[in-house]
Amino acid sequence: MTDDIALSFDTLTVHAGTGPDPATGARQVPIYQSTSYQFRDAAHAARLFGLQEVGYIYSRLTNPTVAALQNRVAALEGGAGAVCCSSGHAAQIMALFPLMGPGRNIIASTRLYGGTVTQFSHTIRRFGWSAKFVDLDDLDALRAAIDDDTRAIFCESISNPGGYVTDIPAVAQIADEAGIPLIVDNTLATPKLCRPIEMGATLVVHSLTKFMTGNGTVTGGAIIDSGRFDWSASDKFPSLSEPEPAYHGMKFHETFGQLAFTFHSIAIGLRDLGMTMNPQGAHYTLMGIETLGLRIPRHVENAQKVAEWLEQDPRVTSVTYAGLPSSPWHETAKRLYPDGAGSLFTFEIKGGYDAAVKMVDALKLFSHVANLGDARSLVIHSASTTHSQLTEEQQRASGAAPELVRLSIGIEDPADLIADLDQALAAAVGKG
Ligand SMILES: *Cc1c(COP(=O)(O)O)cnc(C)c1O
Repeated sequence: MTDDIALSFDTLTVHAGTGPDPATGARQVPIYQSTSYQFRDAAHAARLFGLQEVGYIYSRLTNPTVAALQNRVAALEGGAGAVCCSSGHAAQIMALFPLMGPGRNIIASTRLYGGTVTQFSHTIRRFGWSAKFVDLDDLDALRAAIDDDTRAIFCESISNPGGYVTDIPAVAQIADEAGIPLIVDNTLATPKLCRPIEMGATLVVHSLTKFMTGNGTVTGGAIIDSGRFDWSASDKFPSLSEPEPAYHGMKFHETFGQLAFTFHSIAIGLRDLGMTMNPQGAHYTLMGIETLGLRIPRHVENAQKVAEWLEQDPRVTSVTYAGLPSSPWHETAKRLYPDGAGSLFTFEIKGGYDAAVKMVDALKLFSHVANLGDARSLVIHSASTTHSQLTEEQQRASGAAPELVRLSIGIEDPADLIADLDQALAAAVGKG
């Protein structure tokens, strides 16, 4: 790719991070299915291991196919650097790892993917970390929750599954005032609908499993660093600002500047946690991202049509989609997410839980699966699946109340989707 011309987003989805293969001219990024890379000589090997020279050593740390994907997602999010890893959940641990230590905490939005609530409520405690959950619509509560041990604020841009959107600039300002990074999970919006770094986020995390790959073939994650946070401004982030004993006393921030977080995530994070993405997965995700600019507008257009149809149907009691004027977050969505509020939402039908489950079973075109962001339309009952480890109170707070059904709208013809919903509603509740 030529770096000297400013390319638009849709062009970057096809070109960023890739060019003809230097060895063969192969125009598509090859799957470098190799564990290791031959050193030129002993001195070269020593320089690579000492981080004095950047290059390939071993695929737990770096791999050319994965590197191409890292460069592409960094370009799409407007970041200084990116690291890919084995899943979205791995990305969350990898994002927190350089920032945290025993006794430290994060402030997390109450409205998050169910698996993330579980990871933050229970699993991170094993590392001595903790999370305080705060409703990010209440900025005073957010300010009040930050204490001397807080090392980050974590939220989703568009959140899973309740049709909630976060006011990222307002939250970023509070993070700035506190001298801590804001981490935004941009999985549901993708950089086509939202670029959190432009709104003040420090780090962006992705489940590449979802819309970025877009076809349900890959489990993967990414952390993108804005490169803008001053890790040395306080003594809060010693992993990045202080001498690193496992690298001969090198200071990451002093040595790598705006790439400090990215280098740390590879040289320490991937080296020691080993949550590596495989090159074949990276290849599929690169393929998927090539059509992101085409797919996302279609997802949004379909979601809007289906949500509007459901909302006017007398058998439906509520639809939570930020693209509808009835949503409490409609105005925020219009202001901050002008290209659309994604394609995931929930709705409730007359007859509550029992009718909802009956309807899920009657759907033919929608696939009943624990996934989202596929080209195919998907349906799930969140409370008994993705959000089942949560208390009912947590389920309600994260928009996955027991009576709600979640839809992930695909890129099919919307008339077919509506016809399928119509026949399933008829089976569950009766004719409309
Ligand atoms: C799916 C998802 C995750 C977790 O990603 P995996 O790739 O399944 O580990 C995190 N955040 C959001 C918003 C998700 O939808």
